[in-house]
Amino acid sequence: MNGQMMDQPLLISSLLKHAERCHGRTEIVSRVIEPAEGDARFHRYDWRALGARARQLAKALGTLGIAPGDRVGTLAWNGYRHLELYYAVSGSGSVIHTINPRLLPEQIAWMIGHAEDRVLFYDLNLAGLVAQLIPLCPQVEYWVAMTDAAHAPDIAGARGRDYESLLAAENDDYEWPVFDEQCAAALCYTSGTTGNPKGVLYSHRSTLLHCYASALPDALGLSATDCALPIVPMFHVNAWGMPYTAPLVGFKFVLPGAALDGASLCELFRNEGVTFSAGVPTVWLGMLQYAREHGTALPAFRRCVVGGSACPPSLKKAFHDELGIEMQPAWGMTEMSPLGSVNTPTRHYEALSPEAKAEQSMKAGRPPFGVSIKIVDADGRELPWDGKASGDLLVQGSWVVSRYFRSDSSPLVDGWFPTGDVATIDADGFIQITDRSKDVIKSGGEWISSIELENLAMAHPAVVEAAVIAQPHPKWDERPVLVVVCKSGEKLSRDELLRYYDGKIAKWWTPDDVIFVDELPHTATGKVSKLKLRELYAQAMPA
Ligand code: ADP
Repeated sequence: MNGQMMDQPLLISSLLKHAERCHGRTEIVSRVIEPAEGDARFHRYDWRALGARARQLAKALGTLGIAPGDRVGTLAWNGYRHLELYYAVSGSGSVIHTINPRLLPEQIAWMIGHAEDRVLFYDLNLAGLVAQLIPLCPQVEYWVAMTDAAHAPDIAGARGRDYESLLAAENDDYEWPVFDEQCAAALCYTSGTTGNPKGVLYSHRSTLLHCYASALPDALGLSATDCALPIVPMFHVNAWGMPYTAPLVGFKFVLPGAALDGASLCELFRNEGVTFSAGVPTVWLGMLQYAREHGTALPAFRRCVVGGSACPPSLKKAFHDELGIEMQPAWGMTEMSPLGSVNTPTRHYEALSPEAKAEQSMKAGRPPFGVSIKIVDADGRELPWDGKASGDLLVQGSWVVSRYFRSDSSPLVDGWFPTGDVATIDADGFIQITDRSKDVIKSGGEWISSIELENLAMAHPAVVEAAVIAQPHPKWDERPVLVVVCKSGEKLSRDELLRYYDGKIAKWWTPDDVIFVDELPHTATGKVSKLKLRELYAQAMPA
């Protein structure tokens, strides 16, 4: 017997309809990309105004001949027009393909070709990149500059009007279509550190379920009294879902544009009263350095989620002790929309010693309902949740990929998605990521956690950033090598730093060598690039 409740599909347009009604006056603030002399630096409006413009844009897409299922690409930062595109494209049944502009033009062109994007919307300061892309992407029919006619660049070969002229040609008399919630809504490619990037195609249903789960108190924990700023870009796993959580919850939404340096961020955080934010460790390191140097206080800012790579304990401690901000580690990936786990306390925390509590609060956290996890050994046998056994982490869930875009083979193993991460899980379901399977160091048949070695190095007062890579070794197979950036003006010797590990880890885990560098290479999503580090240093070591 079926239940007798209404069958309403979970559609992205329903988030917008809700926000227009219930959070209509809630503010959305964006830093303007490249304002001209005399232009306002910030754009402000609300969900009611956004809703009207998104409907105009949906009509404009129809005028361009974009049909349901067609892909619409964006090369854009976190800003209000990008947010309008999120709703207009998906809401009208097309698929928004968000592209990371920090990748190489050849990589971007490959993705545009693979996705078969028909239109490309781009931010003004990316016009140079677009000029390089046009000859590489002959199938793109329109290139639309996300600005008005007065500011639009003149790029040879670019067919298409500017964004504001497209909108001005339409009224907002548009009804969002109703269709199957399983339809594709958004497409995001993994950065493809090995081989070609892989496309992950989110559905309306997966996006809404992810959005509900991520708003929960024990996930991002957001409410209508918050003011939230995603530092994580809207081209990187949909800014971890925040552009969808914003209309669901109705928090004030602040979009930082292209300026993610410490000074620009601190200005926005202070002036707008940001209470919550999310980003990768590298941006938080930059912000901490700026706040330290300038004595910046951020009184409204209470909590941030850090994910994308491991959160160094020293960073979490500095945020807490020096800025009064609670940093919550989280784990996920493009294939998981991205939320896999967030570290929020449970009642069991109360019984823990301060040291145990601090240790527990550093883990990647526990999965929300909707994500199932397990760890397995090399033979695929499930390992216990005892916080000690470490193995390959596999996941299942309603917002986990089942197949990559335009690929015939399934990445799943017995219905589970292998994350490529190595982890422990404790009795309360807290995940501790010890490594990526390709970064783990295999020494004498045993595993050494590069993350643990990095965290310890970063706790040294003279160290800013550290990464550990494997060096090939004739006897042990692989040995760890530490690559570090010291604080400016600080002198630190190899032996001093290696002695710092004494008593903190098993002796044989101690890195064989230290390489001092001025900066570490980062990927286009702001993570330390182990691939580049291995290219630069792994082979150069004496065996
Ligand atoms: P890519 O970095 O390949 O572009 P993603 O952005 O989807 O892909 O990153 C996912 C990966 O980032 C995870 O598989 C994991 O290795 C790493 N990661 C994410 N969060 C954490 C975390 N809290 N601790 C350690 N690693 C993390």
